[in-house]
Amino acid sequence: MILLSNFKFSRKLTDYLKKIELKTGREIKFFESPDLGIKGITAAYNYHPHYIQITLNMENPRSIEDRERSVAHEATHGYIIHKLKFCRPIFLENVDDNYKRDVHLIFTMIEDIIVNKIIQDNGFYPFGHEYLPMVTEEIKIAHKGEEEGEKFYHRFTDNPHLEALLMISRYIIAWGFLRYYHLDTQEEKLIQEFTQTFQKFYIDYYKFCVKIKEIIEEHNIFTANGECSAIQLILQLFKLDERVELTQLN
Ligand SMILES: [Zn+2]
Repeated sequence: MILLSNFKFSRKLTDYLKKIELKTGREIKFFESPDLGIKGITAAYNYHPHYIQITLNMENPRSIEDRERSVAHEATHGYIIHKLKFCRPIFLENVDDNYKRDVHLIFTMIEDIIVNKIIQDNGFYPFGHEYLPMVTEEIKIAHKGEEEGEKFYHRFTDNPHLEALLMISRYIIAWGFLRYYHLDTQEEKLIQEFTQTFQKFYIDYYKFCVKIKEIIEEHNIFTANGECSAIQLILQLFKLDERVELTQLN
């Protein structure tokens, strides 16, 4: 494990990262950047054939527990690609960064359901401390209708296409928690309120969510092949499939 930053990880996280390095045969390397594509995120995973690369945004203030959870989360993205052979995108030449970000967001939306489940099984919290307060705020915003919702999500990206995908992914992640996780009653109630409010007030966006849920239900996204097929179909749904190929490691 190569750490560029001068912070120390807990025993629990160190052990978990070592386990991933052992199982994948890949070293975990850390980098730092103040821009990870979507504003407000702390860490990001980037594919590299020989390493598990994690980029940290040290300017984003987080509690130690949240930062650790975030690192465990990103490392697990590497684990499912290198060990479980989940698929990843290969872009045709000359595709622009906006297109890549859209495709990556589709991947993240599905992978996060799997990744958060794995970290939960390894003793980490499935979501950070900011998640439920954010959901509470999103419920309030949703009651104001689509236009206000769009304005809200615009804070995280200047790209309108990515903004739409971001809204949809917020629903799918929440729905995934309800569908596949054991949550405590309060958490479950709140997330449920969000999905219900979203459905009621973001009608145009919810139509896409329905189709994505159908695709997820028809494929076992917890297996490499099921996840790969589901992502391919979701890319097609958004007409994002033409300049990218999905590939799995052997
Ligand atoms: Zn993720």
